[in-house]
Amino acid sequence: MQTNRIQHYLSRDGIRLTVADTSGAAAEAEAIHHLPRLSASILSKAMTGAAILANDFKNHEGVSFKWVTGSPLGNIHVDAYDGHFVRGYLDHPEAGAGLDCTPENEAALSSEHGQLFVTRYSLLKMPYTSTVNLSRGEISAGLTEYLNTSEQTLSAVSLALRMDASGQVTRSAGFLAQLMPQGDIGKFADYFRDMSRWDLTAEAGAPDSLESLLAQGGFDLLEEAPLTFRCTCSEERIRSTLTTLPPAEQEDLLKEPSIEIVCHYCGKTYTIRREVLKKWFEEEKKGVQ
Ligand SMILES: [Zn+2]
Repeated sequence: MQTNRIQHYLSRDGIRLTVADTSGAAAEAEAIHHLPRLSASILSKAMTGAAILANDFKNHEGVSFKWVTGSPLGNIHVDAYDGHFVRGYLDHPEAGAGLDCTPENEAALSSEHGQLFVTRYSLLKMPYTSTVNLSRGEISAGLTEYLNTSEQTLSAVSLALRMDASGQVTRSAGFLAQLMPQGDIGKFADYFRDMSRWDLTAEAGAPDSLESLLAQGGFDLLEEAPLTFRCTCSEERIRSTLTTLPPAEQEDLLKEPSIEIVCHYCGKTYTIRREVLKKWFEEEKKGVQ
């Protein structure tokens, strides 16, 4: 399959398939956040999960996760938006240090007493959030639990990840298969009852590869786009946040010659001088009156 792309397919059996390769985004997140290997694996899979859930491409659907792990990892924060961007971070990535990427360790850190909040928004819909209490399981199991609970659609999720010996993510990919209302449930079961049949990191031509699934299932490509890591932070956004703070907190910020704000998602540091802050607050007051 192609790296760093999102693809939307439909089959003659009425199965919708969304495939995302987040290899580049995963490697970038790993480098930005200096992630231990298990933490990198968990964040990569969560980003792939958000990308494949945002499958209403016609209406530019976006999906955000607040994944409360209940473990020392804290929360997993992930956004997929504009059909081809993802971003994400972990509250306490150091909790994964020294742990191998086994299904047991992934389950223990991602869903010990977990809760998943999924917010969806698109051109057609106001943002709405659904919550599911997670059973102990891997990231893909958590997503399947969400889909089974919150959506009335038969769904199958597969997430795959490869790392080199040093713990660098080299491939990250996943798919979401969903049965359409008039779809063939027997065919869906044939393909997706045993998810270990498919490995999205397998070479084209291998029996478990995506190409093999696409050929067997007669899937037609509807839409595809590049998929990359990108943040939405900006000085303008910081300004709108700071100007809504209570006056006492604004006064506190003006005590220093400058303040530094670090974006959790991309690690970018914004240094804002006191004169600039003062101007923002004054302009905001004028605007309000
Ligand atoms: Zn940012």
